[in-house]
Amino acid sequence: MSDHHLFGQVDQYLEDLFIGEDPLLNQVLANSEAAQIPAIQVSPLQGKFLMLMVQITGAKRVLEIGTLTGYSSLWLARALPADGQLITLEFQAKHAALAQQHFDLADLSDRITCHQGPALDTLPSLEGDPPFDLVFIDADKVNYSAYLDWALRLTRPGSVIIADNVVRRGQVLDPARVADEDERIAAQAVRDFNATMATHDQLDAIA
Ligand code: SAH
Ligand code: MG
Repeated sequence: MSDHHLFGQVDQYLEDLFIGEDPLLNQVLANSEAAQIPAIQVSPLQGKFLMLMVQITGAKRVLEIGTLTGYSSLWLARALPADGQLITLEFQAKHAALAQQHFDLADLSDRITCHQGPALDTLPSLEGDPPFDLVFIDADKVNYSAYLDWALRLTRPGSVIIADNVVRRGQVLDPARVADEDERIAAQAVRDFNATMATHDQLDAIA
């Protein structure tokens, strides 16, 4: 059995054990597929990890960069208290519109606000608001370092910053060797981001 196949089976085992059936999130995934939106959301195990992070930190204000159709948003928002807020940023109007339907479906619209547009255009509007307790970065990789700058600007000491896709199927080991140009640029951007996370004097980090 290949390692890849084995990891898939282990994930399935852990999903069955720790998550089980989740009709709402299954509906979200079915709607996204029907709308022909790529299934690039976090895995169920990662989603529950995000939920637990909100729960453990007691976060009340959460920022997400990269909504897609709201799968990870719903995991994050589920753990928010009634007066909590998730701000989520999404470039594609089609994604943002379906995400909004999902927030309504989940009855969490009161806690979630989606700003549509390039995140670097919408982030400045959040300056001056109270600091975020937790930030989840999961959008275009080329801007990861810029998103980290914004995350630091919009948080406080003790806030948590989480980023997805920091390995790029191993491409992060040697971006120069990646044949596809977009993938190469993304791998290099993530490698730069990881280096900043690892060495920044305001951050304690792990991947
Ligand atoms: N967090 C989601 C997955 C996000 S996929 C989940 O796990 O469920 C990445 C998303 O980032 C896509 O929907 C893409 O449209 C969006 N995106 C890409 N570039 C962006 C940008 N410049 N600003 C905001 N969102 C962007
Ligand atoms: Mg991702």
